[in-house]
Amino acid sequence: MFDSPEYDSHEEVVTVSDPDSGLRAVIAIHSTILGPGLGGVRCWQYRDGMDAVRDALRLSRGMTYKNALVGLPLGGGKSVILGDPAISKSPAALQAFARAIDRLDGRYVAAEDVGMTVADIDMMRDVTPHVAGTSWGAAASGDPSPYTAEGVFLGIKAAVEAQNGSDDLTGARVGVLGLGAVGWKLAEKLNEAGASLVVADINVTRTVRAAANFNAKIIDPMRLPFEELDVFAPCALGGTLTRDFAESAPVKIICGAANNQLATPDVDMALWEAGKLYAPDYLVNAGGVINVAAEAAGDYDAYAVMIRVRAIAETARAVFAEAKDKNTPTGAVADTMALERIEAARSVSVAQRAER
Ligand code: NAD
Repeated sequence: MFDSPEYDSHEEVVTVSDPDSGLRAVIAIHSTILGPGLGGVRCWQYRDGMDAVRDALRLSRGMTYKNALVGLPLGGGKSVILGDPAISKSPAALQAFARAIDRLDGRYVAAEDVGMTVADIDMMRDVTPHVAGTSWGAAASGDPSPYTAEGVFLGIKAAVEAQNGSDDLTGARVGVLGLGAVGWKLAEKLNEAGASLVVADINVTRTVRAAANFNAKIIDPMRLPFEELDVFAPCALGGTLTRDFAESAPVKIICGAANNQLATPDVDMALWEAGKLYAPDYLVNAGGVINVAAEAAGDYDAYAVMIRVRAIAETARAVFAEAKDKNTPTGAVADTMALERIEAARSVSVAQRAER
């Protein structure tokens, strides 16, 4: 683990095993410099244990950057439960998992991710207070996807403005890959803004519904990234942006909700060199975590959350401007901005320790 590229000096990595319930899980806390490591729980069938550890490490490090870049007082953490969500999330397993989170004493705060539901998080809250994204209670934040969709929509407008000088989406050809919780809401907003939609999903019912509701053109999911588009919005799974995509897709802007869109880190530079404007995924999809973070702070106010989500557009504009000024890929610019914030907080805490 220490030698894997994803490790990157994680503060703490905990493996959890509960033979009675069959639970096997990994909790990775990358950084608590800015605050407790907040990030989702993913339940997934991994190839093997090391594959699960690597995923937890990669996702947890990503949360450090995401939380820092959007100015949340939170560090980065993530956890994975190994196995098929239909089998591995028994109440006994979720309770055992929640006890493991509780033992971390608030250094990690768990929320919902792939393979988990709000009901699962509700169940875990019976065991530990260190969860967020619940459905009931004074500070409950509920479904994060409308906030995520809003951030992505504003990211698209900021990117279009950076390229065309105007954020008008009338007639813009936008491809949405994945019409799930976020993709569907994004398609609604794009349709209202006058964009011409091209959609793809492995769930045919959703694409047919989009054709009926938004007059969207339906395309095969494998072909959509290579369509002639003004904007490509990946809203399904990660890894869509490959070197081949960067070099050959006739797309001007990439801005979507999916996490980890770059198949490999070098694609950031390949996109930039090909003249494609990539809105860093962890910036534009931060609306969901901003929503959950308000619950974790115990002070949920939907209006205040939306104001904060709207600030994603300002940060996106700053990233695009700096990328242009320094002729540097947008992903690298976003990483540097996030790291500067973390380093500033680290210097303060080192100075405070020295004073004591
Ligand atoms: P979801 O599961 O509701 O929707 C995903 C959609 O993608 C589904 O309609 C599914 O059928 C489709 N899909 C899956 N594989 C596909 C493929 N190969 N080709 C085409 N379509 C495919 O998920 P979601 O909550 O909408 O999240 C979408 C993405 O955004 C995920 O990568 C998620 O990690 C990321 N994200 C979501 C949130 C949030 O608030 N939900 C926040 C941040 C990031």
